[in-house]
Amino acid sequence: MLAARIHGHGGAEVLRLDDLPIPERKPGEALIRMKAGGLNRVDLYMRNSGAGITHQLPIILGLDGAGVVVEADPGSKFRADDPVVIYPGQPCEQCEFCRKGEEVLCTRGKLFGEQADGTFAEYVAAPEGSLVAKPAALDFVAAASLSVAWLTAWRMVVTKARLQAGETALIFGIGGSVSLAATQIAAALGGRALVTSRDPAKLARMAAFGAAETILDEGGASILDRVMALTGRRGVDVVIENVGKAVWPTAMKAMVRGGRLVTCGATTGGDPSADLQRLFIRQLTVFGSTLGNRAELRDCIAFIAEKGLKPHIDRTFPLAEIAAGLDYLESGKQFGKIGLTL
Ligand SMILES: [Zn+2]
Repeated sequence: MLAARIHGHGGAEVLRLDDLPIPERKPGEALIRMKAGGLNRVDLYMRNSGAGITHQLPIILGLDGAGVVVEADPGSKFRADDPVVIYPGQPCEQCEFCRKGEEVLCTRGKLFGEQADGTFAEYVAAPEGSLVAKPAALDFVAAASLSVAWLTAWRMVVTKARLQAGETALIFGIGGSVSLAATQIAAALGGRALVTSRDPAKLARMAAFGAAETILDEGGASILDRVMALTGRRGVDVVIENVGKAVWPTAMKAMVRGGRLVTCGATTGGDPSADLQRLFIRQLTVFGSTLGNRAELRDCIAFIAEKGLKPHIDRTFPLAEIAAGLDYLESGKQFGKIGLTL
């Protein structure tokens, strides 16, 4: 089978399409014929530097994936030809976090494409516990984007921020697939989504994804001024962000008293001022979040089906052109998810 493996860290030269044996399925695992994956920034980090993630080379990249079961244990709830989405984690199932359904906090588990071989391969042997039925209304490329981007957005907006109908959410950095999914989820919950970007063309597309207002990031106080104008100088209930240092002071000032901020990334830097006086006087809450649990993935899929939402795929590359796909991701030109057919 063909698989996209990195053999070192650096540019496109470390990524090779290798012809490997089909993985052997162990008891408790299902063999999946992969149909689609999706590119995430962590795939770039793994290729470029390894990003401090413990792993052995060579390793198959990829956290996102959807495919069809080829073979599973006798008596398994999965059978041949069942379409499935792969949860990106392989939790230990035994630690204190796994026992209370918070397997996203598991310290002994592995993630596909980080500590374990990933999903960018024609076949994957995955623990049955990491499989979720594919939503019928989505094709495989759209379904694959649920594994990371939608799960991450769901945990941020629903589990952490607990956004309520009628509340206002400020979502930074539209264009990335997590921010786009967060906007779609917030709008479907009855929230009022204000979205920011430095790219007017990306903002122009956001009404179709449920954004109530768009805010062009022109630097300085441009975002804060607009937020205050749009909220009658009240501020927003919830901030969803993954930009980090460049927007943190604005994000802290944009919240109403008692506001909730959820961050899942720090692409512009991880050490902004904590602004502690504002934090306690205005009784703000700051949540860190990354990925999510399997129960959240199932809830997110049920919500998508109920609301008729669709993940937005910008472009799809075949596995043979994954290097071009990663270059495209690195360019930051994408709007939504970059898919991969396997
Ligand atoms: Zn665990």
